[in-house]
Order: sequence, then structure tokens, then C-alpha cells
Amino acid sequence: MDCVFCKIVNGEIPAKLLGETEHSIAFKDISPRQPVHILVVPKHHHRNVAELAEAEPEALVDLVRLGSKLAAEYSTGSFRLSFNTGAEAGQSVFHAHGHITSTTPKSA
Ligand code: 5GP
Ligand code: ZN
Repeated sequence: MDCVFCKIVNGEIPAKLLGETEHSIAFKDISPRQPVHILVVPKHHHRNVAELAEAEPEALVDLVRLGSKLAAEYSTGSFRLSFNTGAEAGQSVFHAHGHITSTTPKSA
């Protein structure tokens, strides 16, 4: 399948990995829009967060937990977790992913 996040999960294209669990991986967004911008991604392919929640709810909980842990590590712990769902909402990669963004990196 020609999916950029499946390729990152499989190690076929590089990414700056920040964390991994049984169900999820996390890496830096290639074009960060906030001082902290991390993507948390289920290892299995689902088109969006709604389909992930239906098909593999434990992987969605795992994704939220990994994202929260990294938000605490890389920011002051004040963060946003967002899921663009559908092209008109700005989704451009159709493999479910959460954006962890924060304006307050830990070092700031
Ligand atoms: P969406 O617009 O689908 O909610 O978010 C997709 C995100 O993936 C964008 O913020 C974009 O910068 C990021 N992205 C797209 N391709 C790559 C890639 O190859 N590597 C990484 N690290 N991020 C990517
Ligand atoms: Zn995929």
C-alpha cells in the first residue's frame, strides 16, 4: 500500500522517532507548525481516528497515552491533541494520526 505512515512504521522511509509501544509509534512532524509538533500513529493502517476507534479501540487509548507521555517529556505538559478527519478538515495523510502540539517546549 502506498501509505507514507505505513512506510515509516515499516522503516522504509526515515523519521525522527521519539517513542514506540506495542500499538503505536511517535515521530517529529516533518514540517512543524508549533515549537513542539509530534505525530502519534497506530502501527496498523486505519484511514482516520474514527475508523481506528471502531476497529482497534485499545490502539487509540495507547496512542493517547504515548502522546501524553511525550507531551510531558518535550513540553511543559500543556498541549493539544488533534485529529484532522477528512480532506475538508485538512487531513492529508489517510493513515490515522494524532498531532501533539505545544507552544511551550520544555527547554523554553
Ligand atoms: P494531516 O494534514 O493529515 O492531519 O497531517 C499530516 C502531517 O504529516 C502533516 O503535518 C505533515 O507535515 C506530516 N508529514 C507528511 N509526510 C511526512 C513524512 O514523510 N514524515 C514526517 N515526519 N511527517 C510527515
Ligand atoms: Zn498506512
